[in-house]
Amino acid sequence: SVSLLEIKDLTVGFPAEQGILKAVDRVSLKMEEGKTFCLVGESGSGKSVTSLSIMRLIDYDGGDILSGEIFFHGEDLVQKSQEEMIKLRGYKLAMIFQEPMSALNPVFTVGDQIAEAVMLHQKKGKKEAWQDAIEMLRLVGIPAPEVRARQYPHELSGGMCQRVVIAMALVCKPEVLIADEPTTALDVTVQAQILDLLRQLKAELNMAILLITHDMGVAAEVADQIAVMYAGVIVEEGTVEQVFSHPCHPYTLGLLKSIPGYESERGKDLYAIPGNIPSLAQLPQGCRFHPRCVPAREKCRLEEPVPHDLGSGHVVKCWLSEGAERAEKRSPDLPA
Ligand code: SF4
Ligand code: MG
Repeated sequence: SVSLLEIKDLTVGFPAEQGILKAVDRVSLKMEEGKTFCLVGESGSGKSVTSLSIMRLIDYDGGDILSGEIFFHGEDLVQKSQEEMIKLRGYKLAMIFQEPMSALNPVFTVGDQIAEAVMLHQKKGKKEAWQDAIEMLRLVGIPAPEVRARQYPHELSGGMCQRVVIAMALVCKPEVLIADEPTTALDVTVQAQILDLLRQLKAELNMAILLITHDMGVAAEVADQIAVMYAGVIVEEGTVEQVFSHPCHPYTLGLLKSIPGYESERGKDLYAIPGNIPSLAQLPQGCRFHPRCVPAREKCRLEEPVPHDLGSGHVVKCWLSEGAERAEKRSPDLPA
């Protein structure tokens, strides 16, 4: 199938004393219309750098796209000027972040902020843009949108503000929405409502969503496709069914075991992956996960694993995955 957005071998570097640190190293992924692609991993794994690179906002963050391509409708976003990107951002490509308050301007009403995007990108007049804003506030489930539109961000709850941010991102009907930890700052009940809302809007607007999360539980709820990132590389990728029912990378398995309810026995403590994600300045040789990996063997310390396709696009970057056996079977030391 033709993908809407395709990243090919993206490498992103940040200059540092030690040289160029690669926060994202040869990452590839394909997003399809009407589907949700989840990038999952601990903080510092390169998820946000990947998403900011798609928007070309990484340029403002001190990062450089060192190599690779990001095709959107067959055009490479990496080659575009910032002037060209301004026309795409907030229009065909939209993004929402973790902290709704930081995305909203405290001195303008929420209606004005949503209408602004419409006036800028769709060249509509103020009145029509204001109507679109109210319509969008209704679509994201804000009661009495005509009243709310005239309010300022501080007059709304955190959950309401995130709905406003979503309305602002979606008012121009983008083809791709990037959501970076959109529910992390919200309490659990509101989290579930926002995830529901995203699912519903995806279907209604037939857009593709790239959802960035550290939470496997969130990914399980909304993803069609999942890629697990670790220290700048994708270590496992597949459909939600492939990754959740047949996790093959020891890191994926560790993430799954750390969510409540996954193969857990009553009274058993939740699993935590030992150790920490390595600093980019001191990436381990061979497999980047080896210092934290229970079944690691000699080869893992020396050679970087190559991606191995287990079939139907379920790809794993682990020496143990060759032979398609579950990593778990060979790692009796991991809690069951
Ligand atoms: Fe663990 Fe080796 Fe697989 Fe890396 S390649 S995840 S160290 S078993
Ligand atoms: Mg992040």
